[in-house]
Amino acid sequence: MIQISQIKLPCGSDGGPGSVSHPQLEAKIRKLLRLPKGHRIQSFRIVRHSVDARHKPELYDIYSVLLTTDLNEKQEGALVRSLKNKDICVKNPKTYVFPEPSENALRLSCRPLIAGSGPAGLFCAYLLAVSGYRPLVLERGLAMEERVAAVERLWQDGTLDPSGNAQFGEGGAGTFSDGKLNSNVKDHSGRTDFVLQTFVKFGAPPDILYEFHPHIGTDILRGVVVRMREEIIRLGGEFLFETKAGALVTENGALCGVHVLTKDGDKVIPAKVLVLATGHSARDTIRTLYAQKVPMEQKAFAVGVRVSHPQQLINQQQYGIRDQAALAKKHLPACSYKLVTHASSGRGVYSFCMCPGGYIVNASSEPGRLAVNGMSDYARDSRRANSAIVVTVGAEEFGSGDTLAGLVFQEKLEESAFQAGGGRVPVQSYKDFRDRADTKLQKADDQKLCIKGQAVFAPVHRILPESLHQDIVEGMETFDRMIPGFTGEETYVCGVESRTSSPVRILRDENMESMVPGLYPCGEGAGYAGGITSAAVDGIKTAEAVARRWRPMENRGNR
Ligand SMILES: Cc1cc2nc3c(=O)[nH]c(=O)nc-3n(C[C@H](O)[C@H](O)[C@H](O)COP(=O)(O)OP(=O)(O)OC[C@H]3O[C@@H](n4cnc5c(N)ncnc54)[C@H](O)[C@@H]3O)c2cc1C
Repeated sequence: MIQISQIKLPCGSDGGPGSVSHPQLEAKIRKLLRLPKGHRIQSFRIVRHSVDARHKPELYDIYSVLLTTDLNEKQEGALVRSLKNKDICVKNPKTYVFPEPSENALRLSCRPLIAGSGPAGLFCAYLLAVSGYRPLVLERGLAMEERVAAVERLWQDGTLDPSGNAQFGEGGAGTFSDGKLNSNVKDHSGRTDFVLQTFVKFGAPPDILYEFHPHIGTDILRGVVVRMREEIIRLGGEFLFETKAGALVTENGALCGVHVLTKDGDKVIPAKVLVLATGHSARDTIRTLYAQKVPMEQKAFAVGVRVSHPQQLINQQQYGIRDQAALAKKHLPACSYKLVTHASSGRGVYSFCMCPGGYIVNASSEPGRLAVNGMSDYARDSRRANSAIVVTVGAEEFGSGDTLAGLVFQEKLEESAFQAGGGRVPVQSYKDFRDRADTKLQKADDQKLCIKGQAVFAPVHRILPESLHQDIVEGMETFDRMIPGFTGEETYVCGVESRTSSPVRILRDENMESMVPGLYPCGEGAGYAGGITSAAVDGIKTAEAVARRWRPMENRGNR
């Protein structure tokens, strides 16, 4: 196959990247490829699309395509060499293949257990199910439908259900998200592509396979998760919702069972394998394992506030086009940004999990503690843009090297946020936040501010330690020079953004196994991923590790 990159077209040509036909793009490909007379392009597909806004408001679509011709491989190679164009090369895309169990793999005597149905647990379960392991997935939270209802209740009247919220429940933390699928994982194995292809197989929009900033949106992601669950069950897997993995049962130091807590009480499920994919918010599970001396270490993470702007301001600054309708004409989505700087304290200040045309959400999961995050639907069509503005914190800020000090630090911040807003999402104008104004508690228009959850104006600046507040203000002022209006009248901040990643790392060896043989710490909660795609990739790697060591148990139709 031949890949051509850096193909430039005015934005919106051919009806944009998602269009069924691409006459102008095809014409450009022909011109660049200069196929010998009598030869033809058989097929081509877009493999990468991004927008070049450096000459805004003149905007360009930048494409990479993969194509086949009626030339044979040798002729294609010769043609590519003759073109002497650095953007044209011969390409043979890598297809991900799940490894067979190794020769000396032992046969399992019971099903592998997977705690957590977030991206890490789900992809681990999917690949083990495809390979005949009939995994048993334990999910402490509610199944999708009940979970959605519970989250809506929290956002409507503030009733928090510890088993159904933005952190816990079927699909994990990513379910109520923007569904951004970027990941910084340098992956030559094809696992990342496999994750995206699997999402498309279960109903995600195909543009995630080529968009530079792929995203699914929470409205579509929910269906994708349920279809994956159904497929895992069709392949012999099983899901137990409202079933929480608790303490480990070991024999000679190795795993032989897991205590599980259900509505009907506590019981032990025999297990040789437990994939622990419980996410960054399972603090009780972390404490249980820590008490059982499962080796783990403190890990730095980031905290801050979530900032909100009119989406038009961001579109104007990034694309030079303010109006959403004008953007739509060019088949362009609401615009995003990525900002980073250093405060005079030396800490990095950066934007995180930016949600264009999205919502700020009450992402709490524990009574008396309040955390926020961001989400959007696939259309990204709300009037406001939001992102977290955070600083990295570690032992210096936690005040101790105690392994769980970061977790306690998060809890304290969230208690301050809960108190600041009286249990509702605390909001403050950026100006008042900067000037540490004594903002009086007053109901905020959550609709207008695109906040999912009851919100009140409150002194958000009080939630953060002085030094972190200082850094964030310095960062915001710097970002205002990069995006004029970033600290304007229409800018609001909400608190607290505390669940950016896990405050601990559960140690594992090169076989992805903890010092407790049979325990496989996996995903974001274990400290090995940050985001939906990298968590899913870690789930895949863990399934591979299980398959290298164990064969599926004999299929006698029982546990
Ligand atoms: C509101 C929000 C928006 C986000 N937006 C994005 C985004 O746009 N893009 C992105 O890449 N990332 C985003 N993230 C982060 C992303 O969701 C996580 O990085 C990712 O989901 C981590 O996957 P995971 O499978 O490791 O853990 P999680 O998704 O956290 O899943 C863990 C699962 O384990 C369950 N569980 C916990 N304890 C137990 C137990 N003891 N027994 C059984 N089950 C248990 C939980 O209920 C949960 O379902 C967002 C997160 C939130 C909260």
